[in-house]
Amino acid sequence: MPEEAKKLFAEYKDSYTPAQWAFRWLYNQPEVTCVLSGMNTLEMIDDNVKTASTTEIGSLGPEEEEMLQRVVYAINSRMKVGCTGCGYCMPCPKGVDIPGTFSSYNRRYYDGKFWSVVEYIKCTALRKTSTAASNCVGCGNCEAHCPQHIAIREELKNASKELEGPVYKVVRKFVELFKAF
Ligand code: SF4
Ligand code: SF4
Repeated sequence: MPEEAKKLFAEYKDSYTPAQWAFRWLYNQPEVTCVLSGMNTLEMIDDNVKTASTTEIGSLGPEEEEMLQRVVYAINSRMKVGCTGCGYCMPCPKGVDIPGTFSSYNRRYYDGKFWSVVEYIKCTALRKTSTAASNCVGCGNCEAHCPQHIAIREELKNASKELEGPVYKVVRKFVELFKAF
């Protein structure tokens, strides 16, 4: 999450985690009757149950709505691809790490080029078999599964252009040489 969004949450008078705010916003909507959420630990289940039992339609006032709008703007203005990292597009037959690529690509816009390339090298180049965006052959299998309707093939091309520069290529060459021994 961009620093600006974290700051908006941190400075608000009521203290909730970003996940709690997200659930509160959903439960506040009259159109929403059921919220499906991925949960990995018992703590997450407890936390989500607690939020569900203490939030209902009309819980959020205009001030809270306005703060959340500002958070949304802070995130969207810094996010190149609206990937949530859900992984529904995986596995890719060519081994492309789609969520990892988009996470690194987005990072370029809120954390700078250096850290974005470091993250991308870690998740795609420092592997026995490359999981780089440039391995994409454009079959389109992944796009049918993306709930965010992301033009994955197009965005992978953009990410590859930005992230697979000379430093990346040198690192990958070293990994290939290392493998040969
Ligand atoms: S379009 Fe590219 S990234 Fe998507 S499944 Fe096919 S090869 Fe993998
Ligand atoms: S399915 Fe879409 S949103 Fe989910 S990880 Fe893949 S690209 Fe990202």
